[in-house]
Amino acid sequence: MKHLLEVDHLSTSFFTYAGEVKAVSDVSFYVDEGEAIGIVGESGSGKSVTVQSVMKLIPNPPGKIVNGEILFQGKDLAKASEKEMQSIRGKAMGMIFQDPMTSLNPVLTIGMQMTEVLKRHEGLSNSEAMQRAEKYLEMVGIPNPTARLKQYPHEFSGGMRQRVMIAMALLCNPKLLIADEPTTALDVTIQAQILELMKDLKTKINTSIILITHDLGVVAGLCTRIVVMYGGRVVETGTVYDIFQNPKHPYTWGLLKSVPRLDSESKSKLVPIPGTPPDLLNPPKGCGFAARCPYAMNVCLNQKPEQTKLSELHQASCWLLHPDAPKVEDYKPSKG
Ligand code: SF4
Ligand code: MG
Repeated sequence: MKHLLEVDHLSTSFFTYAGEVKAVSDVSFYVDEGEAIGIVGESGSGKSVTVQSVMKLIPNPPGKIVNGEILFQGKDLAKASEKEMQSIRGKAMGMIFQDPMTSLNPVLTIGMQMTEVLKRHEGLSNSEAMQRAEKYLEMVGIPNPTARLKQYPHEFSGGMRQRVMIAMALLCNPKLLIADEPTTALDVTIQAQILELMKDLKTKINTSIILITHDLGVVAGLCTRIVVMYGGRVVETGTVYDIFQNPKHPYTWGLLKSVPRLDSESKSKLVPIPGTPPDLLNPPKGCGFAARCPYAMNVCLNQKPEQTKLSELHQASCWLLHPDAPKVEDYKPSKG
């Protein structure tokens, strides 16, 4: 089966006065029709740059896609012109960002902003567009849509603004919805409501979803597969089960330990991963995680780990998976 989106060996760099910042290196993943995947990693892991590359929203200069293919519905977006992208963005591909306030225009009513999208992409008349906008506001759980369309962004709460953004992203029934930290700015209860809404909409309109988050806990309910990124690279990818029940990369282990649990027993054991991400201006020669990894070996410092295929959908890049590597059980964990 052809994938809806197939990103193949994508590398994106920023060319600064200090030199080339390799924000994304050799990233490959895919999304199938009707499927939701999560891209997870700390800030600076390259997840936003990855999806911005997919949407061709990397400011050039200083940014540039230096290598790779981005096949969307069979077309390589890496080679598409800005004009072609403009007809894809907001139509075949919808986007939601962390802070809806920065993506909504504060001086235009919600109705004006929503109908603008429909007039531009689908040539609808004003009344047709208004009708569709109302329908979508209702679908995302905004009461009184007719009155709400006449209001300005500041008249909505944070959670309601994110609902508006979701409605806007879905207006043209996109094949793919890209959500970059859509719930990060919201409090926990609202966060859960927005995720529940996305889950509900995914089945209702059969759109594929890429959910970007730094919080592994957020993806489990919505996504079927997870891509774990670190230092601009994919370090592990697998089904939600693989990643939660059988993770193979030490960075994934660290991420899992930093997921807040609702059961009180493990609450106290929440541990952030010590250390900081690698400097992508001078990326390390070997494994990018070596400086923070409790299992780092000599080979890790000198050579990038190869990708090991653990099963059809589960892959990880770590020297521990090499047949000659010492067993993790043999390491004496340091106290703490
Ligand atoms: Fe740790 Fe080495 Fe694996 Fe990197 S390759 S995660 S340093 S064990
Ligand atoms: Mg980001």
